[in-house]
Amino acid sequence: MKTSIVTIGDELLLGQILDTNSQWIAKELHQLGVELVESVSVSDSKQAIVNSLDHALSQSDLVIITGGLGPTKDDITKHTLTSYFKDELELDVVVMNRIKAIFDKRNIPFSELNKNQAMLPKKAITLPNLLGTPSGMWFEKEGKIVISLPGVPYEMKGLMLGEVLPRLRKIGGFLYQEYQTYVLYGLGESSAADMLDDFEDILPDFIKLAYLPQPGRLTLRLTGKHQEKVFLQQTIATLGEKLLSVFKDYSIVKGTEDTVALVKKMLIAKQKTLAVAESCTGGAIASYITLESGVSSFFLGGVVAYHANLKRELLGVSDKIIEKHTVVSAEVAKAMARGIQQKTGANYAIATTGNAGPSTDNTDETLGVVYVSIAAENQVFVERFDFGQPREKVIEQAKNKALEMMLKEILKNQ
Ligand code: AMP
Ligand code: MG
Repeated sequence: MKTSIVTIGDELLLGQILDTNSQWIAKELHQLGVELVESVSVSDSKQAIVNSLDHALSQSDLVIITGGLGPTKDDITKHTLTSYFKDELELDVVVMNRIKAIFDKRNIPFSELNKNQAMLPKKAITLPNLLGTPSGMWFEKEGKIVISLPGVPYEMKGLMLGEVLPRLRKIGGFLYQEYQTYVLYGLGESSAADMLDDFEDILPDFIKLAYLPQPGRLTLRLTGKHQEKVFLQQTIATLGEKLLSVFKDYSIVKGTEDTVALVKKMLIAKQKTLAVAESCTGGAIASYITLESGVSSFFLGGVVAYHANLKRELLGVSDKIIEKHTVVSAEVAKAMARGIQQKTGANYAIATTGNAGPSTDNTDETLGVVYVSIAAENQVFVERFDFGQPREKVIEQAKNKALEMMLKEILKNQ
């Protein structure tokens, strides 16, 4: 079933709020096995809504709309849909009594404007909204379905979970999709493919194996589509075990492509600890690590030593090194990594120093240059990167590189 999402609201086009509704709906549809072909945002104007509907219905069998269902004049979705489907509004007494009860409970007078919320198109199925006043509407025409939901995210989610998804599931015929990834180190794509020759022969039609090479590692992904969700999950799990056994003599990690999760797995397995000393990344690395749950068993913490004084005082970076090489240098990065390693007693340490920009202050280096240092148990090493601009990109890439370097170092000593 081809599907389109249309989110309606001037505020989306003015950039005042982020359209989180379509992301959430897209995820749910994907899980259900419904194919989303397009997602668009349009303004609260009759012409824009009609145009988007014409376009969506020209390519999809199902259109999910959110927004524009408020009681005020600027919300015109309901009227536009009613005239689009050549329908007319009538009072739904059940809905009116439900809305009235909400108002009575809060001691707010029930106005004509609120009564309008109970005026609903005759031919549409009303989807009761238990969390607010606007009802959802389900229109059907010439075998196609158009569903209109409120813009308020929790009301939209309530209606999707309580009404829309169960009805779509009943219509059925969708294929569930599942995937599982495995990250393999120390083996190139073609060598891995050679080893997987027999494995690929036993793959059923509905399972595909993809090779996704990245610098230093190869991600293998098993993807399947099937009507039976549990059967699909079991099949992928069984095949996954076989795949792991093919590479039992190599470094292979199941289940994630996220570097932090891999660092976590490896450090916990080795019972080693990590600390960070950050300058230009300003705590981004520590924040990234702690977004992952369960890191307290290996992550000790760290410092944000932004000013040279703190590099001296907290990390013991000597004046001589700073004067000779300036703060953005391989030597300072290494001294910071060693410093935090010694201060915290961590087995491993990560340090960053760089010119995130837009200006370079008193350094010898150009804009966008970052030194990342890793202090391992017996040696300290450092790499120089030039990430260019803007500032956000420099910080983001420095953070990612630092964790990749860390992972490589742990894997080296497997
Ligand atoms: P509406 O149904 O148009 O009255 O929307 C009510 C409120 O829901 C708006 O003021 C927004 O704060 C929020 N909203 C509307 N559309 C979206 C969307 N696509 N994503 C996230 N929030 C939204
Ligand atoms: Mg609106």
